[in-house]
Amino acid sequence: MMFQTKDITFTNLARAERLADSTAQLYDLIIIGGGITGAGIAIDAALRGLKTLLVEKNDFASGTSSKSTKLIHGGLRYLKQLEFGLVKETGLERAVAHNNIPHLVHPEKMLLPIVEGGTFGKISASLAISVYDLLAQVTSEDRMKSFDKEESIALEPIINQDILHSSVQYSEYRTDDARLTVELIKASRREGAEAFNYVEVEDFLYAADRVCGVKCVDRISGESINFSARQVVSAAGPWVDELRSTNNSKKGKGLQLTKGVHIVLDKEKLPVQSAVYFDAFDGRMLFAIPRGRVTYVGTSDTSYSRDKDNVLCTSSDVEYILKALNNMFNVPEIVPADIVSTWAGLRPLIQEEGKSNSELSRKDEIFISDSDLISIAGGKLTGFRKMAQRIVDLVIKRNDELIENKCITEEHKIHADSFLDYEAYEAYVSELEVEFSDYGLSPYDAWYLATTYGKNARSILISASAMKLEKEQAIIAAEIAFCIQYESCYKPDDYFNRRSGRLYFDVTSLKKHMNFIIKTFSEHFNWDSEKASNMSALSNKYLEEVTVIKEA
Ligand code: FAD
Repeated sequence: MMFQTKDITFTNLARAERLADSTAQLYDLIIIGGGITGAGIAIDAALRGLKTLLVEKNDFASGTSSKSTKLIHGGLRYLKQLEFGLVKETGLERAVAHNNIPHLVHPEKMLLPIVEGGTFGKISASLAISVYDLLAQVTSEDRMKSFDKEESIALEPIINQDILHSSVQYSEYRTDDARLTVELIKASRREGAEAFNYVEVEDFLYAADRVCGVKCVDRISGESINFSARQVVSAAGPWVDELRSTNNSKKGKGLQLTKGVHIVLDKEKLPVQSAVYFDAFDGRMLFAIPRGRVTYVGTSDTSYSRDKDNVLCTSSDVEYILKALNNMFNVPEIVPADIVSTWAGLRPLIQEEGKSNSELSRKDEIFISDSDLISIAGGKLTGFRKMAQRIVDLVIKRNDELIENKCITEEHKIHADSFLDYEAYEAYVSELEVEFSDYGLSPYDAWYLATTYGKNARSILISASAMKLEKEQAIIAAEIAFCIQYESCYKPDDYFNRRSGRLYFDVTSLKKHMNFIIKTFSEHFNWDSEKASNMSALSNKYLEEVTVIKEA
């Protein structure tokens, strides 16, 4: 299938040749971990001319970077912890991300209801948001607005009026964390980097007691492979301490993992007009965020010490979120059976004595081992660009052979065929609707494809409309072909979870077309019936994990 795209090929169909080529290279930088942190480092390093390789043990963004609240935000609540530096840095990064990839970073008005006994009173909320707007240099039209009770009800009629006092509204941005990660990795490859999913680092290579590469296993073929580099950086998120132990350098501070869960509801069950940042009953605050046909709500924040590779939403997580939700919104009681999907992720936070989970800092931390392994953990999705800048500055400083080029990501458009601005993106969605109206394209599909694939949406639709398949299947078939050729998809869940988000935001389409998805992948990769049936079992397991709630 041919696509008219400015993207370059990025496919596991050519995996063997690409791997063979990479093993023969001496890289300037190897990055372990294909979450947002690793992806951000890859594009920064590649733009500065470093010969860069990124390896990820599962799929790109399969760790925390597909499980966040998907907000590009400064984190209003961190002001209460007096984290002015963090709030300023991430607050300023919001506009940078919005400019650099408009179709993936959407302005989102956030309503904060002031309620009896809530975290913020009207004065403290107004003060905090004014500081927030100031730190983030928010433009005048997007600054905080205050509303009395009647105005608040008009804005958000489903808020429980018995406890509502007034509200304040401020501006944030919503993204798709997994797609942002994948787009950054694609951007890094356009600048000369290489990246592999399903390559796990098992150990390090050393020369004169200094790390000079990684010993890996290809999780698709099972073969061992080594890669060499002047510098290795671990951006392994919740797994950073494991790799520090492998490197015999786990001393001093370590990670403290906390689990955060989100639930997804059909929009009709919780029809919020805009995002709401509301009080739970335990002093924490949760988000309810509308997106397409659903509203998602989260998050919990509980200590976690179980299997990091299998983090699930349990009945006690659901109980917590539903209790908070049913208290704040005046809608027919929401029960576990109303939940259409869920996700659960781990925050890789830095340990601090005597602090509760919610009080732990969201700042990033860099560890440098005696054998010169650099590890970075903590931080926020929103701060990925600045974290990457600090790491690449450090890598260049520590390696005399590397040329000292300045960071240029602040002005760098991430998508190969980027929209100039948000207005151009919105106009494109309307154009798609008109252009494919004879094909029966719905406004939802136009929005979904443009917000997921940017300007590649048109190319995907041209392919789909030429197929002799029913429309929804044809779109799925064209998306899969695109994701296999240009986005390194290998397993069906790479597509239905981290490339398209259907697992969370359109689970009905997934349930309906799961067999077709497996068949389409089988044809592309020429799988025999045993492999296809294993992939089918795995895919249905993932589907069940997010739709059937387990006991705690
Ligand atoms: P990860 O995304 O976990 O990436 C690390 C990667 O390393 C993984 O993909 C893993 O498979 C790989 N890896 C591990 N070991 C190896 C190995 N041996 N070999 C190869 N690869 C390996 N931030 C925001 O800005 N906004 C939000 O709205 C927000 N909400 C959040 C909500 C929740 C519930 C959570 C948990 C976090 C939230 N965050 C948010 C924080 C943000 O999601 C994280 O800071 C960020 O995603 C961490 O990215 P990372 O790349 O460091 O880690």
